[in-house]
Amino acid sequence: MKKLFFLPALLFTYVFTTAQELSYYLPKDVTYNTAIPTPEEIIGHHVGEWHVTHDRLVNYMRAIAAANPDRVKLEVMGTTYETRPQLLLIFTAKKNLANLEQIRLQHLQLGDPAMSAALNTDNMPAVIWIGHSIHGNESSGVNASLLSAYYLAAAQGKKIEDLLENTIILFDPSFNPDGMQRFSTWVNQHKSKNLVTDPNSREFNEVWPGGRFNHYWFDLNRDWLPGVHNESQNRLKKFQAWRPNILTDHHEQGSNASFFFQPGVPARVNPLTPEKNQQLTAQIANFHAKFLDKIGSLYFTKENYDDFYYGKGSTYPDVQGCIGILFEQASSRGHAQQTANGVLRFPFTIRNQFTTTLSTLEAVSNMRKELLNYQRDFFKMTLQEGNAAAGKAWVIGEATDKVRTNLFIEMLLRHKIEVYELNSPVSADNFNFEKGGAYIIPANQPQYRLLRGIFDKTLSYKDSLFYDITAWTMPLAFGLPYAELNAAKYTATVKGSRVDSVRMPAGTIKGNKTNYAYAFEWNDFYSPRMLYELADNGILAKVAGKPFEAGTEQGKKKFNYGTVLVPVSLQKTDEDKLYALLKNSAEKNGVDVYPLTTGLSTEGVDLGSASFINIAKPVIAMIAGTGVSATDAGEVWHLLDQRFNMPVSLLEPAIFNRAELGKYNTLVLVSGNYSELSKEKLKAWVQNGGTLVCMEDAVQWAAQNGITGISFKKILPGIDSSVALPYASKFDREGAQLNYGGIFRANIDLTHPLFYGYQLPYIDLFKAGKTFPEKSKNPYANPATYGSTPLQSGYISKENYAAIKNSAAVIVTTVGSGRVISIADNPNFRAFWLGGTRLMMNALFFGRIIDAGSGRTEE
Ligand SMILES: [Zn+2]
Repeated sequence: MKKLFFLPALLFTYVFTTAQELSYYLPKDVTYNTAIPTPEEIIGHHVGEWHVTHDRLVNYMRAIAAANPDRVKLEVMGTTYETRPQLLLIFTAKKNLANLEQIRLQHLQLGDPAMSAALNTDNMPAVIWIGHSIHGNESSGVNASLLSAYYLAAAQGKKIEDLLENTIILFDPSFNPDGMQRFSTWVNQHKSKNLVTDPNSREFNEVWPGGRFNHYWFDLNRDWLPGVHNESQNRLKKFQAWRPNILTDHHEQGSNASFFFQPGVPARVNPLTPEKNQQLTAQIANFHAKFLDKIGSLYFTKENYDDFYYGKGSTYPDVQGCIGILFEQASSRGHAQQTANGVLRFPFTIRNQFTTTLSTLEAVSNMRKELLNYQRDFFKMTLQEGNAAAGKAWVIGEATDKVRTNLFIEMLLRHKIEVYELNSPVSADNFNFEKGGAYIIPANQPQYRLLRGIFDKTLSYKDSLFYDITAWTMPLAFGLPYAELNAAKYTATVKGSRVDSVRMPAGTIKGNKTNYAYAFEWNDFYSPRMLYELADNGILAKVAGKPFEAGTEQGKKKFNYGTVLVPVSLQKTDEDKLYALLKNSAEKNGVDVYPLTTGLSTEGVDLGSASFINIAKPVIAMIAGTGVSATDAGEVWHLLDQRFNMPVSLLEPAIFNRAELGKYNTLVLVSGNYSELSKEKLKAWVQNGGTLVCMEDAVQWAAQNGITGISFKKILPGIDSSVALPYASKFDREGAQLNYGGIFRANIDLTHPLFYGYQLPYIDLFKAGKTFPEKSKNPYANPATYGSTPLQSGYISKENYAAIKNSAAVIVTTVGSGRVISIADNPNFRAFWLGGTRLMMNALFFGRIIDAGSGRTEE
């Protein structure tokens, strides 16, 4: 036991807990209104003593709103998946609160060049959005929100009165309520009375998936542009209703770092962001520096972080005439942690976040008019650019899949982009767009720059390092036909009426009840949801492995590969119930159903043909736990649960190893490390007839563990090791060889079950990482392959690109009675890659009907 005393000090550094008084945080030269409750009066502990839970945070925000209605208005933007309220507090002077709607409408005119010239910005308040901890386990931000809210509600004196008179402060205490609640539960339950600072201790090491993510394990700080999630949609509604001049985004970084504020790396600013934005960011940065200098906190700028992807909270505002500001505080990740710089205490991290809120407010006070004028100029300049652009409009739409088209339009409308119906047919870039199946988005609008950020393909970059993905061209992600129209194509008749909202189409039964069969096609987005619903109701359905033509009440109709057939006589359900079920399901899912009265097709296979194959209901499990990419697993979970109403069992690797697997017929392995998984058990399950769907590096794991036998392309080294290189160039050279992710086009076989329902002979996939499979030797086993020029948009090093060229994107391997579907990329990327959705659903529904011989490789 004596030995213990000689262990390194850091392992046993106890920090005796001292409750942090408010005076530690707050500016000294201010008095506070005693009628406003302090945080500890409501939450029951000092700020920084425990991690505030979301419910207590909400209690506090409600309490101060109630205590000072002259300064604070509380709104609920909406709720999270776990039904937590997303609060927005509006702090401003009493007279502004009385005219809030008028101020808002006037402020919005800055974004409308037709109105903005007449505005006098001398007397207009600036609008600032203060946002905290979108990553739930970066909690100094959300805990600092208690102090900022207290300060804004209770501080007294001319300084605060002036500030409130000149600003509308939109205050979002918690960007990610579900994630922060998960994290606060973790750290609080592991807190010791005598704080343990050993980084190995459980307090600092959350269990999978951690508190960073939202309910479905998504990174909400990638969702500002796609706006897939409740949290983002509710927030974007308010953002666009106010269009702030500054938006702050409080995060945390590694525990050994100091504090970061923008500007970030200059070469990594999105080229659509004006230079003036970065100049203003730098001007604001002087205020942060001054305030942090005063309390002696170290910081850095212009390194590590960038301003490139518009899905991030500090970058999206930059394309809205706003200044987005990222803050990154070194994380104590618990209450106090030993770091390279000594013990990093939670209150210290909170104080830096609070201090940079104060410095931002000081900047707004000083730069109010400049910020307002900048926003006006931004939209004026953007409209002029759009007006002068050679491309006059974009046209987009897939007539055979209105839901997917509508989901795209919904995304545009979320950003207050002007969208119109297509009024007359137009052909461009080898696509024919029809009225009713496509939309027009004119370039001549104030959101032209954001539109370029949505539609542009990017192939040249100033830098080869990235913080996140390098391309996100949305029409490619959605897999939608689109084209840019020049002046000759964009004629007066093309643009129809303005679209303010889209309604999801309702399907119908195209005719009367039949005693023979019903058919519906596979091209609609929700066809798989309908098929699952039928299967779940015990309906036997078959899939057409060959096209056919049949007589319908509307005349002869061609049915493509993947058409679902429901023969009436094979059902246990009676005809009336079947008809009612189909009708209801068709309406909900936007799928048209065709009653067929005879088995004799007018062309192609007849309905009794063996080319119609029975489909089993997928019973799906996914490995989800330590080692697995939480975001990738979350994408599958969200896809199945939210979009397709399909259950998926989420299995921890240890549970998989001891569970009875016979009840599942489909298993999903997303990107991850599966060293804990029993490969013998997995292989035996596949051999017994299971369908295993592997993605990204799970494809490599399955190959290395003798399940598939796929081989991989060699990647050429990025450097010549015989030549000496400057030490300082190491980081950049190595970084350039990472594959952050871009968009690559694979050729697909439309006759293969994995590509049933696709219309175009290619698929655009998001490819990150280094899974580059060699094609299978079986010529039927590679339904999707990359050719010699697959890059559509994004950065890729020439060494990595060489490996992608002519590699396989999808390989089918027959293993005993089962199948392994290996997808080298991520078809579900961030839930907006809807062009990959059908591939995923086909793998789940049709994996097991793929002909065994087409996936066999003889070694
Ligand atoms: Zn973060």
